[in-house]
Amino acid sequence: MSFKSDIEIAQEAKLKDIREIAKKLDLNEDDLELYGKYKAKVDYNLLKNGKSKDSKLILVTAINPTPAGEGKTTTTIGVADALSRLGKNTLVALREPSLGPVFGVKGGAAGGGYAQVVPMEDINLHFTGDFHAIGAANNLLAAMIDNHIYQGNALDIDTRRITWKRAVDMNDRQLRFITNGLNGKANGVPREDGFDITVASEVMAAFCLANDIIDLKERLSKIIIGYTRSGEPVTAGQLNAHGAMAALLKDALKPNLVQTLEGTPAFVHGGPFANIAHGCNSVIATKMAMHFADYVVTEAGFGADLGAEKFIDIKCRMSNLKPDAVIIVATIKALKYNGGVAKQDLNEENLDALEKGIPNLLKHVENITKVFKLPAVVAINRFPFDTEKELNLIKDKCKELGVNVALSEVWAKGGEGGQELANEVLRLIEEGENNFSYAYDLDIPIKEKIRAIAQKVYGADDVEFTSGASKEIANLEKLGFDKLPICMAKTQYSLTDDQTKLGRPTGFKITVRQVKVSAGAGFIVALTGEIMTMPGLPKVPSAEKIDVDENGVISGLF
Ligand code: ADP
Ligand code: MG
Repeated sequence: MSFKSDIEIAQEAKLKDIREIAKKLDLNEDDLELYGKYKAKVDYNLLKNGKSKDSKLILVTAINPTPAGEGKTTTTIGVADALSRLGKNTLVALREPSLGPVFGVKGGAAGGGYAQVVPMEDINLHFTGDFHAIGAANNLLAAMIDNHIYQGNALDIDTRRITWKRAVDMNDRQLRFITNGLNGKANGVPREDGFDITVASEVMAAFCLANDIIDLKERLSKIIIGYTRSGEPVTAGQLNAHGAMAALLKDALKPNLVQTLEGTPAFVHGGPFANIAHGCNSVIATKMAMHFADYVVTEAGFGADLGAEKFIDIKCRMSNLKPDAVIIVATIKALKYNGGVAKQDLNEENLDALEKGIPNLLKHVENITKVFKLPAVVAINRFPFDTEKELNLIKDKCKELGVNVALSEVWAKGGEGGQELANEVLRLIEEGENNFSYAYDLDIPIKEKIRAIAQKVYGADDVEFTSGASKEIANLEKLGFDKLPICMAKTQYSLTDDQTKLGRPTGFKITVRQVKVSAGAGFIVALTGEIMTMPGLPKVPSAEKIDVDENGVISGLF
C-alpha cells in the first residue's frame, strides 16, 4: 500500500485567506493581526466584550500509546471537520508543535492524512514565533539570576541550589548538564547548569494556564528559581524579572488562528509536554475558542491516564472549564501492542493479541466515565493495515461491554470519515450522563492527592515515596504549597511507572522519587521513573529527511 504523505496532502490543498476563515467566527479584519495570508493572531482582549456562549467542549484523549502516536490530533481535527459538515459552528484548539519531536522521532503535530491543520510546514517550524518568545522569557530570567549573583548576590542565592535552567526548543542532549561562568572573574560565577527543552519549561506551563496577561505576570513572579544559603525559596518576583518576561510574551499570548484542510477554524496555541507538564493548549485559546464557536474540540497529550487526568484536574479546575463529552482514541495497533505484540509485528492481523489489549482500553473508558463521570465514546482510528475482522472484534467487544464506540476514518477521508463519530458525540452531549468530578480534592494532603491519582486512575495498590520525596513534601507543606493540584510525571506507555508493563496491570505500586513545586504554573510535580526534560535525537533523526527547494517548498516533514 502506498499513500500520500501528510505534507504532500497539505501542499495540494487550496488554502483560504485567513480573513475568510475568521468571518466564520464573526471576526473581522480589525480583530486580526495577520502573519501573512494564512495565519493570524487574535487579541485576547476580545474575550472581554461580546457574547457569552453556551459552547460545548469536547476532549480528545487516548489509550496508552505506541511510540508513533495513536492519532489524537488527527481525530481532533477530523471530528471538528465532521461537525462543521453537520452545520455546527466548530473550532479546533490544539497545541503548537515543538521542534524537538519535529526533528526527532515523531515528526510534526499538525494532524495527518486528510485531517490536518495548515499551513502545516509553518505550524511545525517556528509558526508565529511563540516558542522562541517563551524561550527568551525563560532565558531572560536565567540571565538575571546569574547577573544578580555576579553583582554581589544581595539575595544570598545558593549557587548549588539554583533550580532554574536555560531553555531551547531543540532535542539537544549535549546541553542537559553544563558548566558555565568559566574563565575568571569578569565572566560570571562558575556553576553547574543545564538546559530544558522549551516545552518542558515552567514558563510554558504558566503561559498555558494563565487566564490573561496580568495573571501570567503574577504566575511568572511566583516562579521559584532556587534557594538561599539558609534554604529559603527565591522567586522571579524577588529578582524583578516578571514584568520584562511578560512583556516578551505579550504577542505570544494571543492565540494563533489557522484552518483545517476543510476550512474549519483552528486555534493552535501553546504546547507544554504532557509528562513533566500538563500537556494541553493554552487556557486562553480554549476560552477564546468557546467564545467564538458553539463546539470546541481539543486534545490532551498522551494517554488518558496522563493527558486527560491533567486536563481535568489541573486545567479545567484552574480555569472553570467543564468538558461535555470525551473521545477516547484507540487503534488496533496500540491495542495489539498492549496485548504484547512487538513493534515490528503490529501490522499483521492478530486477534488474540487484540483481545488481550482490550483491558487497557476499558480502564481508560472507566476512568473517564467512572472517575471523572463524563460521557465517553471510543473512536477506533482506522489504519490502512487494520483488517475487517480486527475492527469488528473491537466494535463487538465494546458493544458487549456497554461502551459507546464509533469507527473513525478521518485520516483517509477527512470530515466525511468522521460522521459516525460526530453524531455519536452530539448524541452524548445531549443524552450522556455528565456528573463532572475531579480525581481528588485540593484540600487533602499532598500524599493523599498523589495516592488518589495512582489508585483511581492508574489502578495502583499504593504509592511509595522515597525519603527525599517525603522530606520535600513536608517542606512544601511548610511553605504553604499544600493546596496545589498535582502534575504527575510518568511514562506514557504504561498505566504504571514502568513502561514495560502493558495492558491493564494490577497489584503494582507507584514510586514517587522526587517532588518539586512549579509555583508559577501552580502545581506540584511528582516524578516517577526517569522523566526527560531535555530529549536527545535518535540515531537517524527526521531532520535528515527534511529539505527545502529553490522555491522555498519544504519536503520530508512527514
Ligand atoms: P497523536 O496526536 O495521538 O500523537 P497524531 O494525530 O499526531 O497522533 O498522529 C500520529 C501519526 O500517525 C501522524 O503522522 C499521522 O499522520 C499518523 N496517523 C494518524 N492516524 C492515522 C491513520 N488512521 N492511518 C495512518 N496514519 C495515521
Ligand atoms: Mg497529538
